[in-house]
Amino acid sequence: MLAVLPVRTPTLPPATHTNCYRLGDTVIDPASPYLDEQERLAAWAGGVRRILLTHHHEDHVGGVAHLRARTGARVYAHRDARLPFPVDVTLDDLDTVDTGDGVLVALHTPGHADGHLAFLVDGTGDVLAGDLVAGVGTIVLVPPEGQLAAYLASLARVRPLATTLYPAHGPACPGALADQYIAHRHMRTGQFLAALRAGASTPEAIARAVYASIPGADLILAALQVRTHLAWMLAEGLARQENGTWTFS
Ligand SMILES: [Zn+2]
Repeated sequence: MLAVLPVRTPTLPPATHTNCYRLGDTVIDPASPYLDEQERLAAWAGGVRRILLTHHHEDHVGGVAHLRARTGARVYAHRDARLPFPVDVTLDDLDTVDTGDGVLVALHTPGHADGHLAFLVDGTGDVLAGDLVAGVGTIVLVPPEGQLAAYLASLARVRPLATTLYPAHGPACPGALADQYIAHRHMRTGQFLAALRAGASTPEAIARAVYASIPGADLILAALQVRTHLAWMLAEGLARQENGTWTFS
């Protein structure tokens, strides 16, 4: 049976924890860099033989070395993941891992991170979603790694497979959340395009125009989101850029 242990991590507010999932002899994302949390995780994860990683970001891999040393578990990740430690087994799209209590199917789902993997529990609608969606807070696409086209394609691919999404941050969510995420990104693109048409010509100016009315918005992160969307709009022929100045087309 799928089990979850949220551990404290240096993640993006308002999230404060990362979910470590366990199925059979396999743990996904032993995430905490803090020793007290690592000890708690090792006690919870006794007897595990495998560590699977959704992606290489700091708030997902901080406890790998500790859990590997404690259990001798082998570490699995996608070949594009840029990890600061060796991986024992590289996973490709649709590779399977038999946990002894269900089979996990790796789904290569880039967009948030290179080599991002989600895991479908085979024969169910349960998808361990990593940072494809969030039960608390939002998913940030930071350029150049963050890629909107790939992210939208990953959401669309997972959607028909997922009855329930188990995100890395926050509680489980209905699969339909993926549709809402896709719609939300298109809504933001529309807002950024409107700001361009109204004369905003830099990511910072566009971010101020769109997010200034949102209480507590982080305008630095917002400008990074705008950059990711502008790169997509450029590729789609919706925007042009010259010497750092953006215009609509
Ligand atoms: Zn991440």
